Amino acid sequence: MILILLGPPGAGKGTQAKLLAQQYAIPHISTGDMFRDHKARGTPLGKKIQAIMDGGGLVTDDVTNELVKDRLSQPDVAPGFILDGYPRTVPQAQYLDLLLRSLGRKIDRVISYEVAEETVVDRIGGRRSCPKCGAIYHVTQNPPKRAGICDRDVTALVQRDDDKPEKIRKRLQEYGVKTEPLKRFYRERGLVAEVDGVGSPDGILAVTRKALGQ
Ligand code: AMP
Ligand code: ZN
Repeated sequence: MILILLGPPGAGKGTQAKLLAQQYAIPHISTGDMFRDHKARGTPLGKKIQAIMDGGGLVTDDVTNELVKDRLSQPDVAPGFILDGYPRTVPQAQYLDLLLRSLGRKIDRVISYEVAEETVVDRIGGRRSCPKCGAIYHVTQNPPKRAGICDRDVTALVQRDDDKPEKIRKRLQEYGVKTEPLKRFYRERGLVAEVDGVGSPDGILAVTRKALGQ
């Protein structure tokens, strides 16, 4: 199964992608996580994209498409995969169509998580993640058992640089201009299922599975 998760930053795509990946035993492919990993390791790509990411802007389509092409050449994607944060522009979606066609595969479903802008701002502001295992928390809505500490591995949680208030506005603006049009792109292909992104992670997972017919 090939799934694409759409929705603004803070819509819960990352959380759902992890749950769905477990549920269906397929890889979760997050271009944001991949870029953050390059940045943290200080690779040439990481250095190239650092300023763009820190400013809340989008990495160029060429660089992003190349990263995804490489990722989709790995054997673990054979049973399917979940794309989280890609595609993010219409040109990326067009590239993905061509890439999948060349691989003899196609998108099964596009889930669009619907969340109001005020909710998103609050969610991003309160989001904390574990630098070790990638678990995602929220200071009030999904807090860890001990404040600031990952439940799974007792690592101190961190706030992403681009989750700081001054960056959120820029990211939402990028979303509105460049990513929102993707919903129409996929709707025209009859692929979109809209899912209310407000609720508990397990509740939203249940609605997502229903939308997937399973
Ligand atoms: P995310 O974790 O999906 O919110 O992504 C974090 C940041 O990584 C974004 O703000 C962009 O700078 C960059 N990024 C992630 N995915 C993409 C993409 N598909 N196209 C361009 N930039 C991306
Ligand atoms: Zn952890």
